[in-house]
Amino acid sequence: MSDTPPAIENETGFDRVLAFTLPERDARGRSVRLGPTLDLILSAHDYPVAARNLLSEALVLCALMGSLVKTGGQLTMQARASEGAVSLLVCDYRGGELRGYVQHDKEALEQLGANPDLKALFGNEAFLAITFDLATGGRYQGVVPLDGATLSVACEHYFRQSEQVPSVLRVAISSEGAHTVAGGVLIQHLPDGEEGRERLHVRYDDPDWEHVAVIGGSVRHAELVDPTLSMEAIVWRLFHEEDTVRVEALDRIVRGCRCTVEHYRDVLSRFSPDDLAEMREDDGLIHVDCAFCSKVFELDV
Ligand SMILES: [Zn+2]
Repeated sequence: MSDTPPAIENETGFDRVLAFTLPERDARGRSVRLGPTLDLILSAHDYPVAARNLLSEALVLCALMGSLVKTGGQLTMQARASEGAVSLLVCDYRGGELRGYVQHDKEALEQLGANPDLKALFGNEAFLAITFDLATGGRYQGVVPLDGATLSVACEHYFRQSEQVPSVLRVAISSEGAHTVAGGVLIQHLPDGEEGRERLHVRYDDPDWEHVAVIGGSVRHAELVDPTLSMEAIVWRLFHEEDTVRVEALDRIVRGCRCTVEHYRDVLSRFSPDDLAEMREDDGLIHVDCAFCSKVFELDV
């Protein structure tokens, strides 16, 4: 590679996904930095700071992992708990469209400060489910205990236990006033190539992977959220000693939700008149709640 990082003209680096591969190391990666899109998603909710930070981290992870899914597919991330301050966290990502929400006990969460660990947030009985809906119609889901100090660590466990893919995930969040920036990187070892799914003999002590994991894991939080540093520059800083690093700009990330009057009319049209009568409120309308947008739709069906 050249001695200077690639110049990115007119590019803030917000709300986009960068893919990179290190072919000689059998490694691939993604880098994401959320800015205005994150503000828009958070602005739909009046969350305590711990929930804002949790959702910000989850959205970055969801975009990092979701951008591994080919066009037309979707990744859904869910964390569920039976006794914690947070009972449910849901995010999904489909071709650049990102959304998410956190179901929580506001008072309990406000006691916990800005960055409680996973155990404080979710309690002892919690699970992480990652679902890949493929463009071809296939679907696979892995469920693992929600272990580790952060959601990023829990997702690393998911890849190791459920997919047998050694992975490094790093996420950083920075808030100033009403604006939040959250950035992250994902790096994975794929000895059998991008397409291989049978990796029963993955070696965590593979020297190429050990090297990439140490270098990738050394990315600093300040770099991930520094808007003057492009994501290309971050990848270059980390891996400039490699012979080959390929980068490719993928999706632009926007807030995306499917909640429209037409969508809910279509869903409700599948119910019988008796069921619809039961759903009607005193005002004669059916109220449908979109938790992603904190919006209630009042439908005359
Ligand atoms: Zn919605």
